[in-house]
Parts: sequence; structure tokens; C-alpha cells
Amino acid sequence: MSRIAIIGAGSVGATFAYSLMISGLAEEIVLIDRNQAKAEAEVMDLNHGQPFVKPLKIWAGSYVDCRVADIVVITAGAKQKPQETRLALVDRNVLIVKDIVTQVTGAGFSGIFLMVSNPVDVLTYFTWKFSGFDRQKVIGSGTVLDSARFRQLLAEHCKVASQSVHAYIIGEHGDSEVPAWSLTNIAGIKMKEFCPLCQNKGCNNREAMNEIFKQVTLAAYKIIEAKGATYYAIGLALVTIVQAILRNENRVMPVSSVLTDFYGISDLALSVPTIVNSAGADKILEVPLAEAEIAALQSSARILKESISAVKA
Ligand code: NAD
Repeated sequence: MSRIAIIGAGSVGATFAYSLMISGLAEEIVLIDRNQAKAEAEVMDLNHGQPFVKPLKIWAGSYVDCRVADIVVITAGAKQKPQETRLALVDRNVLIVKDIVTQVTGAGFSGIFLMVSNPVDVLTYFTWKFSGFDRQKVIGSGTVLDSARFRQLLAEHCKVASQSVHAYIIGEHGDSEVPAWSLTNIAGIKMKEFCPLCQNKGCNNREAMNEIFKQVTLAAYKIIEAKGATYYAIGLALVTIVQAILRNENRVMPVSSVLTDFYGISDLALSVPTIVNSAGADKILEVPLAEAEIAALQSSARILKESISAVKA
């Protein structure tokens, strides 16, 4: 029996529940929100779709329902206002996360935490601290979404399917994130070598690549400015992470987890390619990075460390 508990039935939580319901991966989905009426209304709406999907149970529950959950996904808390950075949410959301993690562990939960609320890396770190769980069992969605944006834009530019583009954004899920160009390839062909093969006439490789990364970093700001929140792509990204855990897939994903020594970075959470399976964020891959990428990653780590140090939790 697979049970996924979602704390926070807002735009992200409800869209994830909907995507998960369609995926057929979970037998039970419980939605928990401090706004009980909102959770109940989302559940009613989802349940009306039951005749069109594989049978499952969905209900608006409470923290006791987390006891036997496989994964608790946290999508509760404040979201960015237009122009606001993710790190600006930290003080509001650390307190919310402390309350949630205390209640979930108090209910006897022993599965895997999947943090989504922002700033996701800082909240992943504090979820690990507050829960006392092993580092593998606390995962942040990290730059899985940013890497999907990166792959999609590269795919569009290079006129290949996004599934054939292997590319990672690493570091903070936020303004200091880093494009790992040295790992980026299409069918095993590095970008520099792919460009001369491509039919895309008149493309200046370096300028085009810089523009693609710029669009990745601006994506959330643009969407929030125009429609208030991002939720479809993150909903699907979360289904993929949950699938990697439930099916013990050993899928390599740039999830956020607490690092012990990655290019000298330790005692904070950020995203690097990681093997995700039923143990959680099981193994960090020691990927070879270019000097400039290592420096940018270490700078991203310093920004996150400062944000962690400033928290009075
Ligand atoms: P939202 O405002 O639509 O929903 C937040 C929900 O959390 C609300 O329903 C609210 O009632 C609930 N909530 C608040 N405090 C709570 C508490 N203490 N206990 C239980 N429920 C509580 O926001 P959203 O658009 O769904 O975004 C949620 C979070 O996800 C934000 O922090 C946002 O920045 C983040 N986000 C992360 C990513 C990512 O890639 N990691 C992508 C999109 C959004």
C-alpha cells in the first residue's frame, strides 16, 4: 500500500495531488492544510475524477494520517510575491516547517520527507535538523524544476526532444543557481561539439546558451508576475521524484539534500546529481565539474550558509 501525504493544499499541493492521481502511482493520497475547508474542497474536486483514473483513496486528513505514509511532501507556507526572491521567504516558512515537521514526526512518521516550499534548500536543511532523520531521508525538490526548464529550452533551441537533452542546473534553487555546462550533452555529444552539427543557422553558440540560462533563472519571476504562482511543472517534477522513490528506480536527479563533503561543501542542503531510490537521496554523484562551475557552486553554497546562519529557529 503506497500512501503519500501532502501538507499544504494550495496551488502546488493540489496540482501535485492531481498529477499523482493521474499517474496511478499512489494507492492513497491524504491532503492536510491548516485551512481545512480548502483541503476538503480540493479533495471533493479530485474525487469527482475517480471514474477516470485507477482506483485510489483521497481524503482531507490530519497529522495522524502521516504515521504510515511512505512520503510526506511539504508544500505549505508563504509563496513569492511578484519580484520577491525565494530566500526572502525564509523567516516566515522556517517557523511553519518547524511546526509541521514536529507534528509529522510526533505522529510516528518514519518515511521520507520531500520538501517543496521555498526557500527549498534552507527548508530541506531545517527539516533534516528538526526531524533528526538520516540525511538520505530528507529530500528537497531542489533544481529538478530548473533543470527541466533548462532541458526544455535547450531542446527547443536545438530542435531535439527534451528527453534527449541531459543537463543539470545545480546549487541553490534560486538566484545563485549554476548551469553545469560541462555535463550538458545531447546523445552523449557535448554542447560545443553539438552546435556545429546542428541545423540552427545563424546561432551564436555562446550568446544563445547564455540567453537560455538567463531564461531559466527568470522563469518563475515571469510566471508569478503574470499569474501569481507556478504549479504545473513542479507538480509533474514531484511525481517523478515520488516515482523514483516508490519504484526504487536509482534515477539520477538534481535533488537537494544535506551534503557532507562535495567539493568542500558541507552542512547545508543544495542540489547536485544524486541517485534517488527507496532509501531517498541515496548517493551523491561525484560529478567532474569545470573550475568555474566549482567556484560558482561554492559561492551558491556560501549564500545558502548565510541564510541558514541568519535563521533564529
Ligand atoms: P499557496 O499559497 O497556494 O498554498 C500554500 C498553502 O499552505 C495554503 O493552502 C495554506 O493554507 C497552507 N499552509 C500555510 N501554513 C500552513 C501550516 N502551518 N500548516 C498547513 N498548511 C499551511 O502557495 P503555492 O503556490 O502552493 O506554493 C507553496 C510553496 O511552494 C511556496 O513556498 C512556493 O514558493 C513553493 N514552490 C516551490 C517550487 C519548487 O520548485 N520547489 C515551485 C513552486 C512553488
